Amino acid sequence: MRKSDGPKGFSHSSEPQPHKARTQAILREHPEVREEIGKNPWSFALILLLVAIQFALAWWLRDRPWWAILLVAYTAGAVADHGLFVLVHECAHNLIFRKTVPNTLAGITANLPSVIPTSVSFKRYHLKHHSYQGVYELDADLPSEWEAKLVGNSPVRKAVWLLLFPIFQMLRAFRIKEVSLFDRWQVFNMVVIFAVDAAVLAVLGPRAFLYLLTAVFFSVGLHPVGARWIQRHWLVEDEQETYSYYGRMNTLAFNVGFHNEHHDFPSIPWNHLPKIKATAPEYYSELKSHASWSRLLLQFVFDPSLTLFSRMVRERQGHSASRAAAEIRRTGEAGRSPPDPEPLRPAAAEGAQG
Ligand SMILES: [Zn+2]
Ligand SMILES: [Zn+2]
Repeated sequence: MRKSDGPKGFSHSSEPQPHKARTQAILREHPEVREEIGKNPWSFALILLLVAIQFALAWWLRDRPWWAILLVAYTAGAVADHGLFVLVHECAHNLIFRKTVPNTLAGITANLPSVIPTSVSFKRYHLKHHSYQGVYELDADLPSEWEAKLVGNSPVRKAVWLLLFPIFQMLRAFRIKEVSLFDRWQVFNMVVIFAVDAAVLAVLGPRAFLYLLTAVFFSVGLHPVGARWIQRHWLVEDEQETYSYYGRMNTLAFNVGFHNEHHDFPSIPWNHLPKIKATAPEYYSELKSHASWSRLLLQFVFDPSLTLFSRMVRERQGHSASRAAAEIRRTGEAGRSPPDPEPLRPAAAEGAQG
């Protein structure tokens, strides 16, 4: 049982991550779940809509008072940017178009109003998160030890950590040595986003830029939709390391709450995720899940037994570090080394890793 002042170190598991075994069991008992695997090109229309909304709001707020800017950023802006981030995640798994390059370009399009270039690097780190869930050297979703020690279980520090979440997330890149910080696509992503930032400042002015900047911080931080970062893998039950959220915000968040389902079947697009649970309810209804991101946000901040150490870590299994290093030397790209996130559908996995 966890101590009331919260864990001072990560929990350790000697088991493999839980998703592969469940994927195989579900495919055995419910082979029809394969029918949900595919692409959803309509997601690109949603990207265009949300990008248009964000730039239209930035234009509308270009000469409004700061409080109006913050108010709109915390409400419509955060929800729109969160939706765009979910769609960047779809692009990372090649779930919009068949080929990798159109998905990468769609991801950069979704990144346009988000001020910080994140789309391409998110893909690099996120595919590692799937392949090496809980492996400290490879899973950037895990907080760094220094982060966890710095924040402790103080409510104020946990709230500030959430508010500054994008900065902490970027600093984790230094820990994940197997992902290169700059490849061609990452540089292209940076050039495009910084050019858009400069254009916004020049044409719409600093208040429009302030709107876009604060909206992106709220969308992944101290905000109910930001609580989904806590929802996915924080150990609110001691043994379970992945959690889904089945609340109403899934409608505006493109079902991103279905995180167990997504880890089990990363080749199924967002609109079909609820069908996995509907097809194989016996595998999901027993698991602890969340019903409210707002409640979870408050619980995380004020419950002293939850800290940044409330996470499961494991040793790397089945893929030796020296083999990975040799592969990096051979291909020049760290992203090609992990085993497929969707092991039973090689074609989709190849696409997801490109
Ligand atoms: Zn995850
Ligand atoms: Zn994913």
